[in-house]
Amino acid sequence: MDTYMASDLPFHESPVVPEMCEGSKTIRFRCRKGIACWNACCSNIDISLTPYDILRLKQLLNLTSGEFLRQYTVPYELEQGGIAGVKLRPVENGTACRFMTAEGCSVYDERPTSCRYYPVALLSMRRQDEYTDIRSYALVKEDHCLGHNEPRELTIDEYRHEQGVEEYDELARGWRQLILKKKSSGPSVGKPSKSSLQLFFMVCYDVDRFRSFVVSEGFNELYDLDTEETIEILGDDTKLMLFGFRFLRQVLFGENTIPLKQDAATKRMVRYQEKVQRMEQEAVQRRMAEQDEMYENQED
Ligand code: SF4
Ligand code: SF4
Repeated sequence: MDTYMASDLPFHESPVVPEMCEGSKTIRFRCRKGIACWNACCSNIDISLTPYDILRLKQLLNLTSGEFLRQYTVPYELEQGGIAGVKLRPVENGTACRFMTAEGCSVYDERPTSCRYYPVALLSMRRQDEYTDIRSYALVKEDHCLGHNEPRELTIDEYRHEQGVEEYDELARGWRQLILKKKSSGPSVGKPSKSSLQLFFMVCYDVDRFRSFVVSEGFNELYDLDTEETIEILGDDTKLMLFGFRFLRQVLFGENTIPLKQDAATKRMVRYQEKVQRMEQEAVQRRMAEQDEMYENQED
């Protein structure tokens, strides 16, 4: 089972039908117990997880996000040298999903977004000059999946509703927008630093570690959250995750929506100005040294 969330689809030799469609498109599909291909799709997985998928699964399994990540996932690069994603880890020495049983999916009610969407692929696209994503879809037709031969027609929107995808999409929107924004900001912003990549990973995928970060002294020295809001955020994984997306927009893209403590903000600004000054002085010294070297060479 493959899923895609990119504008550059691997259409070549891909099971994705090379046609982007809208939610109103009618598809023919049904998956049902007893179908000859039962579990075939879960026997060879390649499933990316959204931050909300991780929340739902770790809550069901009664694990911390760190334990869940260690036991059930592998990280991967969403883009070269860029931000990380997380995939479900298949069974040891195999390709099947660890949640697959003869009866079907053992985490069915909390199954990830990709599993809900299948055989539809969500393509996240970014409208030019806007900070909003527009959804479009493609159909995945794999030879082993006999669901396409079943006599049932419905629109993609109806299928999404049936599979409970809407809530999952809504709660992953902030994360998708961060990825799209990062991709479209491209090299002008430069290669992200290692610490910003680590921060992205923690905030998006390791919500329990992010909770410890939010209660830490360092965080509270800088950010000015009111007590009521803090209690609300810390007591609810989903609210904390959404706050995390907001926090990342502030840290990575300068969209300041979380108030800073004035003292700390001033100190930060002074540190920043000192750093800029230092860099400028170093650049001047470098230029002078280059000029000296040039004159010495001319005299020789
Ligand atoms: S989580 Fe469930 S539906 Fe998804 S691949 Fe695993 S067994 Fe299949
Ligand atoms: S019909 Fe498709 S989705 Fe359903 S079990 Fe078969 S391969 Fe999987």
